[in-house]
Amino acid sequence: MKKPTIGIISLGCPRNMVDSEVMLGILKKDGYCIMDGLENCDIALINTCAFIEEAKEEAIDIILKAAQLKNEGRIKSIIVAGCLPQRYSDTLKKQIPEVDAFLGVCDFDKIKETVLFLSRHQLRQKQNHPIYFVTPPTKIYSHKLKRYLLTPNFYTYIKIAEGCNNNCSYCAIYKIRGKYRSRPMESIIMEIKAIGAMAHLSELNIIAQDTTSYGRDIYKKYKLAELLKKIAALDKAHWIRLLYTHPGHFTDELIETIRSEKSICKYIDLPMQHANNRILKMMNRNTTKGEIIKLIQKIKSRIPGVALRTSVIVGFPGETDKEFKELLDFIKDTKFERLGAFVYSREEHTKAYDFKKQIPERIKRQRLDEVMKLQQDVSAKINKRWMGKTLEVLIEEKENDVYTGRSQYDAPEVDGTVFVKGKNLKIGGFKKVKITDTLEYDLAGEVL
Ligand code: SF4
Repeated sequence: MKKPTIGIISLGCPRNMVDSEVMLGILKKDGYCIMDGLENCDIALINTCAFIEEAKEEAIDIILKAAQLKNEGRIKSIIVAGCLPQRYSDTLKKQIPEVDAFLGVCDFDKIKETVLFLSRHQLRQKQNHPIYFVTPPTKIYSHKLKRYLLTPNFYTYIKIAEGCNNNCSYCAIYKIRGKYRSRPMESIIMEIKAIGAMAHLSELNIIAQDTTSYGRDIYKKYKLAELLKKIAALDKAHWIRLLYTHPGHFTDELIETIRSEKSICKYIDLPMQHANNRILKMMNRNTTKGEIIKLIQKIKSRIPGVALRTSVIVGFPGETDKEFKELLDFIKDTKFERLGAFVYSREEHTKAYDFKKQIPERIKRQRLDEVMKLQQDVSAKINKRWMGKTLEVLIEEKENDVYTGRSQYDAPEVDGTVFVKGKNLKIGGFKKVKITDTLEYDLAGEVL
């Protein structure tokens, strides 16, 4: 019997994409054909995000599109996996009866039997309720499960831990993904060796909900610095990038490791979320403005030329005009090279959901616009410093005659682009580029 084709849509963050890659790896190993998107596939696999309202709406839209394709007989079955069923499976079952199977965030190892069952029972009428594997989030994948990479083959994400213990008052993640659980170091190293054997890696992106807490559970102490040194020693990638750190869990050893290891990008993703102490307390961020300032000064003084990325939330319940102004001033004074801003999303089953003085959506949007306008100015000024200077650029794509790429100061998908003039450049390779023009967020230059 010909195996059904699997169409994948992977939503949300890179951590969720790794879960998609684990499930696809299991199916690929079993001989299934994987295709991008839902058109012309037999079984649709939609790995969802449910972090905030916008993400949930996006996931529901795509599931409804799949349901329509199924009702038109263009696809046979729908599997919905990830954060949405983990958080709302009961409601989903009632709301979208077209869905044939639900898998939780840690039920990736059930994908094979789910697809097998569906391919045997192609026509829904033969089963009277959806397949349902949504178990408490206690597992994490290991190197034994070979991933089917969804990124270009020259960079990938390595998830070093799952879950979170920080209990930020606005965040539903720890309810969805469970308690913090680090992967054993050996498993991470084995995975990188395995991926490194299949693909020539230019960049490894180290991810978790909070990478800086790595090891506190299974080794009873911070082990990220040691892990990064081991990864660097493997010499499997030109760039190693650290994402999703937490200002409350930074160690001097980590700063020193980022400074001294040549292959570790001088780029730190340091979500601070706010700069006012009362708000930071209400958010349960376990850090203060003073501590964040000290940490940033320490990082900048010890790692010359380091680029800092941060993310902030505006419109948190009770945020006064004065407190918002304090955040704006902090962004203006600190001059982050990269910044992402989000409006506070009131999420059920989070502490902040019941906080008084919820801010009207109109005000939240106004504050978001103000932050992004300010950061546009900050970023444009920072970019001007690169005029005439040379940057090492990872060449990623070619469109018409222009190549696009990233410097070590740009993470995939979220940061700036370098437009590169050159001939016959190798995709996935590195080139020294002389910067000839600067934009708000992007740079342009020519190969030296
Ligand atoms: S650090 Fe805070 S915001 Fe991030 S995943 Fe953990 S609880 Fe959520």
